[in-house]
Amino acid sequence: MADLNTEEKVEKVVTKKFRKPSKKKVCAFCVAGEKNIDFKDVAKIRKYITEKGKIIPRRQTGVCAYHQRELCQAIKRARNIALLPYVGD
Ligand SMILES: [Zn+2]
Repeated sequence: MADLNTEEKVEKVVTKKFRKPSKKKVCAFCVAGEKNIDFKDVAKIRKYITEKGKIIPRRQTGVCAYHQRELCQAIKRARNIALLPYVGD
């Protein structure tokens, strides 16, 4: 029993230590060479909000700081003219 426990522990440490490094995400807007994000382009913006209508943090999407700010503004504008929901379904 004790052996099993230590083995389990070791395995945990190993998996933690040698976890596959996550691929570095690059900003999709930088790649596309877009400086401004059009708030009327709902299809594009929709990828950066959850189904509940929340803006996805940039650590998950890989968007750069500049474009996250632009995106945030675009989402808020789109919400204001009812292109996107404030609260999703
Ligand atoms: Zn960017």
